Amino acid sequence: MAFITINRENFYYNLHQIAQKIGSKEKIAIVLKDNAYGHGLELMAKLASEFGIKEAVVRNYSEAMRIGLLFERVLILSGEVIESDKFTYAINSLDDISHIPKGTKVELKVDTGMHRNGIGVDEVDEALEQIGVYRLELVGLMTHYRSADELTSELFWQKRRFEEIKQRVRERGYSDIRMHSCNSSASLRLDSIDEDIVRIGISAYGYNELSYPFDTIRLKPILTLYASRVSTRVVKRGERVGYGGGFVAPKDMTISTYDLGYGDGWCRGDSSRPYTTSEGLSIIGRVSMDLISLESSDDTIVIMDNAQEASRQFRTISYEVLTALSVEIGREVI
Ligand SMILES: *Cc1c(COP(=O)(O)O)cnc(C)c1O
Repeated sequence: MAFITINRENFYYNLHQIAQKIGSKEKIAIVLKDNAYGHGLELMAKLASEFGIKEAVVRNYSEAMRIGLLFERVLILSGEVIESDKFTYAINSLDDISHIPKGTKVELKVDTGMHRNGIGVDEVDEALEQIGVYRLELVGLMTHYRSADELTSELFWQKRRFEEIKQRVRERGYSDIRMHSCNSSASLRLDSIDEDIVRIGISAYGYNELSYPFDTIRLKPILTLYASRVSTRVVKRGERVGYGGGFVAPKDMTISTYDLGYGDGWCRGDSSRPYTTSEGLSIIGRVSMDLISLESSDDTIVIMDNAQEASRQFRTISYEVLTALSVEIGREVI
């Protein structure tokens, strides 16, 4: 069986590095959306809680229900709203407000430039009024940066715009609600964070997505993906391997199939530029639904121990490589 190991020590190392950078671990809200970036929702929630993290951020109510007991507060980014003392819901549009049950704890997300979710900068007054009319309990004000990981000034004008909104919301009488805007890259990049929490995803899992000179905080990947051998054969020079027969053996080779494929969320990629594992084994021929071929007869192979390196090979980002990994793959803490 293909399987995943999660390295507890590296996870705690990353959280410790982040806590040092931002000043305290109490400020870390761990982002566990999408099966904890493919690492395993319950498993990562338990580890984070044992480290002392008090808050989680998830995609929807169903994720929140699975981990709620472990945290003091869970921020739910979208989807169905079911009132709970512990859960807070991001308001993604003005239209959301009238559909949320009375008394629900909400956090107003303001669109300061990303133009994805959140109410417009010029809708803030109306949103506050509506929140009053529908008797929602406003507990937070938040925004999300569109380019925190790019070394441009983008982060700074968006941040300044958010500062203006914060001021305006305080002036409207909401002086004790919490305010937050930083994801991993913004948290690692800004000199100081004067906000109540930071929403930490990818960096907790071991990836600093910033370039020089902001990549000095070294983090350690925590997920390793293994595949197990299914069968082995000798392929003679000139014989072809896999769908389409695109791979022609240049010599007699001992080739095994391993139990990982695109059905497990492994990227099928382009077989003319095959993925190469950290141990230097290139995938032979096309990736099948449940199988890949490698020139090896080892029973277990490390397919990936660094999603950032893998993502460069696939010309995508670490987030996509990780979140794609099927929930069906067994995950174990080491
Ligand atoms: C996913 C997400 C984050 C975490 O981003 P990272 O880059 O993984 O740290 C933070 N805030 C919001 C609103 C998100 O959707």
